[in-house]
Amino acid sequence: MSTRRWQPVFVGVGSNLDNPLQHARQALEELGNLEQTSLVLTSLLYNSDPVGPAGQFDYVNAVAGMLTQLAPLEFLDALQAIEHAHHRDRSGERWSARTLDLDILAYSNEKIESERLTVPHKELHNRNFVLGPWMDIAPDFTVVGLGTVRQLARRVDLGTLRVL
Ligand code: ATP
Ligand code: MG
Ligand code: MG
Repeated sequence: MSTRRWQPVFVGVGSNLDNPLQHARQALEELGNLEQTSLVLTSLLYNSDPVGPAGQFDYVNAVAGMLTQLAPLEFLDALQAIEHAHHRDRSGERWSARTLDLDILAYSNEKIESERLTVPHKELHNRNFVLGPWMDIAPDFTVVGLGTVRQLARRVDLGTLRVL
């Protein structure tokens, strides 16, 4: 049995293709089934305006609060396996439409900068679709080096998010 400590980890969920609401809901369920991991809290689901190439559909976004014994890269592997199962096509340009995007927003208070993983997520402070749902579940969580979720959320426009 693993003796690794349980670490808090927050995951951003996004989808804007092929019935995004269903992809997001199913992804949350799949996060709940990950090994050595427990899904503790999920935010409401939101619609947000698309970023990136023009002509995309609105996004569905949520944030999940979890505890895991997986190491950061193992956890990323697990998220990418879920993305893969949703037939995510990585051939498009960056930020183009996708069935499912699962990003690690924060892994405990760790700072990681490696080829595969940057934690805390490098864009989270600019993203209302991350900070809005995150506020639902963990406003007092301190993102290492950046401040609390509440402080970060004050600096973005949450007004354009639509609760589903
Ligand atoms: P963004 O990172 O701006 O949200 P994206 O989510 O669309 O863009 P992806 O195509 O999903 O980008 O991922 C590109 C690569 O980013 C992945 O292969 C992964 O190795 C890397 N990556 C770096 N940091 C993270 C992180 N915190 N969470 C998930 N993937 C990350
Ligand atoms: Mg992303
Ligand atoms: Mg991603």
